[in-house]
Amino acid sequence: MRINFNVPPCAENAIEYIKECIAAEKICGDGAFTKKCNSWFEERTASAKCLLTTSCTHATEMAAMLCDIKEGDEVIMPSYTFVSTADAFVLRGAKAVFVDIRPDTMNIDEKKIEAAVTEKTKAIVPVHYAGVACEMDTILDIAKRHGLFVIEDAAQGVLASYKGKALGAIGDFGCYSFHETKNYSMGEGGALLIKDGKYIERAEIIREKGTDRSKYYRGQVDKYTWQDAGSSYLPSDMNAAYLYAQLEIADKINEKRLKIWNRYYTELKELEEKGKIELPFVPEECVHNAHMFYIKTEDIKERTALKAHMEANGILTVFHYIPLHSAPAGKKYGRFSGEDVYTTKESERLLRLPLYYSLTEEDQGFVIEKLKEFYA
Ligand SMILES: *Cc1c(COP(=O)(O)O)cnc(C)c1O
Repeated sequence: MRINFNVPPCAENAIEYIKECIAAEKICGDGAFTKKCNSWFEERTASAKCLLTTSCTHATEMAAMLCDIKEGDEVIMPSYTFVSTADAFVLRGAKAVFVDIRPDTMNIDEKKIEAAVTEKTKAIVPVHYAGVACEMDTILDIAKRHGLFVIEDAAQGVLASYKGKALGAIGDFGCYSFHETKNYSMGEGGALLIKDGKYIERAEIIREKGTDRSKYYRGQVDKYTWQDAGSSYLPSDMNAAYLYAQLEIADKINEKRLKIWNRYYTELKELEEKGKIELPFVPEECVHNAHMFYIKTEDIKERTALKAHMEANGILTVFHYIPLHSAPAGKKYGRFSGEDVYTTKESERLLRLPLYYSLTEEDQGFVIEKLKEFYA
């Protein structure tokens, strides 16, 4: 491929910082760089606590444990999402209850959530697709009235906001991903954001194999012991060092991504005006982070042809989720609430264009040219 779909971000200082870890002989979890990353996110998101994890999947598993999700519980989420959103709850014996998406943002349709609530419902998991926020005020209101937790899958939402609030810091818990395909990366990694300080202690215990080792490191107890069921959710400090180098230039990365996103939008507008494609929609109260640029084709047939045309020109474009309710595990562990009006139909039309920090103006120009050529 001449132009890849994604190139993982790497900041200039990454190697230097990893060397620092090695020199300090501290490469396990919760070293200096992990602490720097945690503080950085706490400050930027105004959450009580940020805990770096080994993935967003694992951050979501931690949230599921903190909410005491158990056998027979139900958790509401979109079907148009990554498997991890459901996995974390299904692992605890819960059922995934899928709700249709809105065609404009591809986010869970907040108007269809309440009909999915039953006596077994424990949580709602909004997924901020493409870094564009779900309608959080409505979701929080439903959660409050029914006594439900809100766990944001903000894997794609780092540095994006809704009515001025950072995504991931609006619900009870927020989960970030630093996988190599995300805006900021440490290869594999994530973070759990905690809104209410009362959950911090248990979160630290769960993350440290069920022990109070975090307290021990802080000198609050003189030995650490097994306190609760837990697992190992802390990443190596070398990975945190790689991530921290990007956080230092986070705004620069964000601006560059937004510039690329805006150019796609401006230059492809004429295709939308001619009725050939649809462009993404960002509601007024949302500030997005240019996590993704997608277009929507007429149907799956046109999308296949367009993808092949781009590939013939050395450009990799990719579609996205196969709706979870139509997958084997989704049928086993979930159910769709109401009717699938948009989930399948809209997912079949969506195609994502190359968008990454190091994408050059020239390469982007080539992508736009080839896309226009297809529709000419
Ligand atoms: C990437 C992603 C995840 C998973 O992130 P990992 O860090 O790979 O576990 C979960 N949910 C959504 C919406 C994602 O985009």
